[in-house]
Amino acid sequence: MNVPFYDLRAAHAELRDRLDDVHRRVMDSGCFLLGPETEAFEDEFAAYCGARHCVTVSTGLDALTLALTAAGIGPGDEVIVPSHTFIATWLSVSATGARPVPVEPGPTDVNLDPARIEAAVTARTRAILPVHLYGHPADLEPIEDIATRHGLLVIEDAAQAHGARHRGRRVGGGANTVAFSFYPGKNLGATGDGGAVVTSDAQLAERVRLLRNYGSAVKYQHDIRGGNHRLDEYRAGVLRAKLPELDAWNARRAVVAGRYLRDLDGIDGLELPAVASWADPVWHLFVVRVADRDTLRKALTADGIETGVHYPVPVHRTGAYADLGLPAGSLPRAEALSQQVLSLPMGPHLSDTQIDRVVTGVRAALMA
Ligand SMILES: *Cc1c(COP(=O)(O)O)cnc(C)c1O
Repeated sequence: MNVPFYDLRAAHAELRDRLDDVHRRVMDSGCFLLGPETEAFEDEFAAYCGARHCVTVSTGLDALTLALTAAGIGPGDEVIVPSHTFIATWLSVSATGARPVPVEPGPTDVNLDPARIEAAVTARTRAILPVHLYGHPADLEPIEDIATRHGLLVIEDAAQAHGARHRGRRVGGGANTVAFSFYPGKNLGATGDGGAVVTSDAQLAERVRLLRNYGSAVKYQHDIRGGNHRLDEYRAGVLRAKLPELDAWNARRAVVAGRYLRDLDGIDGLELPAVASWADPVWHLFVVRVADRDTLRKALTADGIETGVHYPVPVHRTGAYADLGLPAGSLPRAEALSQQVLSLPMGPHLSDTQIDRVVTGVRAALMA
């Protein structure tokens, strides 16, 4: 028996009838963009997050880029980003013409270290862009304090954190503008790409609405130079069908994580993910750290257990950011993480038998 890293079909099998209904409803409506499914999903997801507005867009990258653009960030500006993240976080800053300025995570954490932010603030800094990586919220309280002291915006990348709670409050339900991705493999995933900007700032929401649709609120009236960044009706309908299951799916992820945390504890050389006392993570990924990651990965693969690496090359060492001139050794935490992280199978449809297989496989590989 093999253990897949993440089975994308399982959620769709569970909701087959509901999804067949969505297909029929949208095809019969003859309306494929910015129609009733999109409007209803925007209301439902805003309510789920505890925010006033949700504006859907084509991708998570677009959600970040349009949120930054709508906030007035552009050429000449700097935005503080985590050194350890998926490249889209940095690319969204670059897409506005601004410059991403990386800050390292703390010694026991994977998210932006608040204690290191102030050293990176310059006269050009406009915003801090924390990422709730792997589904664990970034420590927003000190980040917001720094932002207030320096007159900066906080825009959050919640592409991996649908439903996560930060000091009891849902990510997206606070004062900051937050970007989500509905890429199929995310905790709430569409049948294709998708994203959303969630905010309680009505003006910002309105600007994102214009930017996603050719700068137009009324057909053929173009007030600003926007683009085409719309989500389609079918994907919005699929997201509506899945949203009522999100909390149960996240709860099942927490059960899987609980088993791993209990049964993989105390293995020499294996570092398990830390959970802050104030955080309710949603376990988008369960990421362990081990010095000889590639050997463990090979052993698990041979054992029929599929794993992932998030992410194998730190963003500053990619060709895309070669022009920043950040040499090897310049961001040692991100570089070490890229060598050591291994993502174990995780998802709401992982069976108890599959969890047992992973636990046995990891123990056998490391304790041999
Ligand atoms: C997935 C992801 C994105 C981008 O989302 P897309 O929908 O793929 O464009 C941005 N940031 C992080 C941290 C992500 O994991």
